[in-house]
Amino acid sequence: MCGNCLLQETAFICPMECPKGMRNGPCGGVTPEKNCYVDETRVCVWYAIYKRAQKTGRTETLLEILPPLDWDKVGTETWGDVARQIRKVGSGKFIRGILSKDKVKKKEIWDSVFKTIRQPEWWKGDSEYHPPAGSEPVSELERRLRGKDFIVATEVTPPVGISTGKLKRDIELVKPYVTAINFTDSSSARPKMSSIACCTVAVRLNAEPILQIASRDTTRCGLQGDIIGLNDMGIRNVLCISGDNPKIGPSPAGSMNFVDIDSVQMLWILRRMRDEGIYLDGRKMKEQPKLFLGAATSPFASDPALQAIKDQKKVNAGAQFFQTNLVFEADRLDPWLEELYKRNVLDKVSILIGLAPLKSYKVAEYLHTKVPGVRLPEDILKRMEKAGESASEEGVQIALEFIEKIKNKQGVRGIHIMTLGWEAIVERLVKESGL
Ligand code: SF4
Repeated sequence: MCGNCLLQETAFICPMECPKGMRNGPCGGVTPEKNCYVDETRVCVWYAIYKRAQKTGRTETLLEILPPLDWDKVGTETWGDVARQIRKVGSGKFIRGILSKDKVKKKEIWDSVFKTIRQPEWWKGDSEYHPPAGSEPVSELERRLRGKDFIVATEVTPPVGISTGKLKRDIELVKPYVTAINFTDSSSARPKMSSIACCTVAVRLNAEPILQIASRDTTRCGLQGDIIGLNDMGIRNVLCISGDNPKIGPSPAGSMNFVDIDSVQMLWILRRMRDEGIYLDGRKMKEQPKLFLGAATSPFASDPALQAIKDQKKVNAGAQFFQTNLVFEADRLDPWLEELYKRNVLDKVSILIGLAPLKSYKVAEYLHTKVPGVRLPEDILKRMEKAGESASEEGVQIALEFIEKIKNKQGVRGIHIMTLGWEAIVERLVKESGL
């Protein structure tokens, strides 16, 4: 289907079945039964790939950063390229190599054919960590995260209309208490004011924005153009996410069949623009953008060991900070953090844990049942239900208890408060948690 077969790297299961076009591992929406949240009758294809790779001892091959589709090749055969490459290497040498008992030799000869095909010149993806080239922080968020403080970021909900009055008031409301403010990119696949527009408003108000870019609505050309345009405006923090599938958005649903790049590929493209000064097509840039790159992660979407592989891949691609999906169980974070520690990832990325103050039982129930990748434990649901009229107060207490529990966890550098439209609560949470 893709014309650039990756089956050797994906445990011989074709990732083209993923409805979000993920080429580099699972999204954060895998259901607790490990099914695909877009089509719950099917197992998540990436979970299946990870499981089989684990069984066959090939999980490390999943770290290689795989390229976006070359649309000239989609729908064509890969075998022609394979035959040409074998001829180039030498058929006899190739056959002798793959029959060899020497594992290193075997891998070398295999890669001389297949790696050359799956990693074209314009991509050259690998499994290595690439530290940022610059030594100076490029944003206030980066500067603070290099220090020792436990930092707070929050989210301000973009407007659904053209007026920016409430947006400006909300930014002013949270600005004194947080280091940076995220603006979502049409979350739940519902159009709202763009993250770019909201970030621009924030910069004018001297607030530090985090631009969110969902690969769902992004093409390789648009991504690179937006980034060079925004850099001089002071928008330096960029969070690359895959975005909710159009299926959970309003009707009529958008296309799920065209996905140009995934979030890992976005990081790889932006990191190379920043550190190597090249566009995806290899053209040299005159000036390189200044970027502090982030990624989203969903600590409980998969088994902790498998999730850590995807997260390490994002860090290798360029992620310098993580903002997690909503978390309600502090202790459940430990096995995931431990896996990241074992992979030497914790000293390369700053983790901000996502939390949401629950305003009502209805909100708690909605998050639990409708938001992909989010689950609330039974005791929190019960507490919120029992609280009745005082549910919002109970929600604040739950959030404060949670902050206390995660403050000193290894690798956790701060919190990311997803306000769900309740921006006024940020001040109280920050003050009462002593941050
Ligand atoms: S859960 Fe996400 S990664 Fe897995 S198949 Fe569905 S869309 Fe793809």
